Amino acid sequence: MTKIAPQPGIMEIALYEGGKATIDGRDDVLKLSSNENPLGAPPSAQLALAEAARNLHRYPSTDHAALREAIGEVHGLDPARIICGVGSDEVLQFICQAFSGPGDEIIHTAHGFSMYPVLIHMVGATPVCVPEAERVVDVDAILAAVSDKTRIVLLTNPGNPTGTLLPDADLQRLADGLPEDVLLVIDGAYTEYAKGFDGGTRLASDQPNVIMTRTFSKIYGLGGLRIGWGYGPKNLIDVMTRIRQPFNLSVVQLAAAEAAVRDRDWVETCAALNVQQRARLVGALRQLGVACDDSQTNFVLARFADAAEAAALDQVFQADGIIVRRVIGYGFPEALRITVGDAEQTGRVIATLTKWRERT
Ligand SMILES: *Cc1c(COP(=O)(O)O)cnc(C)c1O
Repeated sequence: MTKIAPQPGIMEIALYEGGKATIDGRDDVLKLSSNENPLGAPPSAQLALAEAARNLHRYPSTDHAALREAIGEVHGLDPARIICGVGSDEVLQFICQAFSGPGDEIIHTAHGFSMYPVLIHMVGATPVCVPEAERVVDVDAILAAVSDKTRIVLLTNPGNPTGTLLPDADLQRLADGLPEDVLLVIDGAYTEYAKGFDGGTRLASDQPNVIMTRTFSKIYGLGGLRIGWGYGPKNLIDVMTRIRQPFNLSVVQLAAAEAAVRDRDWVETCAALNVQQRARLVGALRQLGVACDDSQTNFVLARFADAAEAAALDQVFQADGIIVRRVIGYGFPEALRITVGDAEQTGRVIATLTKWRERT
């Protein structure tokens, strides 16, 4: 018998399950389960990565100065208030590690990102799950859940898997309503797809207790490379930097991310394609009698009659080589989350749905 005991909380962690990527016996699989960019990675970033690969024997910079400079320039932010991580997942981990621990509570919402409970248990804190109102973050419910032990509120905006956006005024009300010693984290992984949303930039610039996180995994098409960043008050970023490993990002990650963030044409092209195909998919779903909210992201949450119908549809999609995401763990057994693809891919999804509807 081992006497080696894990730290409190670790055994509470349910392993994160990524989106399925393969179907046995098929080589024409269309993966729409992880909100990846249908156009792939930007050529500018691929080129920068190949060039950086000539320097693999060199250690990367420890301060990420060039990447922070580029992000700051593009988004009009102070580079000294930016921290970069191995995906925004790592930035969220820095936040939880730096500002909470055993005995503390971290609030997240019912349909928030499924990585949050993993990160909360990782640091030994206690997750407090707050309901949403009709698939939209409920500010009053969050404020009501705050206790003396609350240290952090983790918010996905726009939501995943809901795709809904909490408007600026409500975000402001939330920030204003929280005690000064509670940190509000705005996870803006899908910001670039949300019309008119600043990703929490204004709040993270002005408020002493707000941090926003962003990623290169979605609109920048670099999910396989793992880069994300956070922005907030300098004193909080400085605390987080102390627990960041000095070489957390490799030379190729840094080079590709810098090229990608400067590639504004790419972002525009991807956002425009997404708007077009998302409208097409939402329109088709509704025409076929499938409920879905307006989405501010690169995916759509399709709500079917019940869990059995969602499960059946999942099988129908797979029979046609299409992988979508079941979202039972997110509190939606009756729904499927479908990533918005390009025109041809969206056509394939709609064809399968139409065929299913004609048969039932
Ligand atoms: C995809 C996603 C992320 C991005 O995570 P990375 O670690 O940057 O790949 C963060 N938050 C949410 C809600 C997401 O859906």
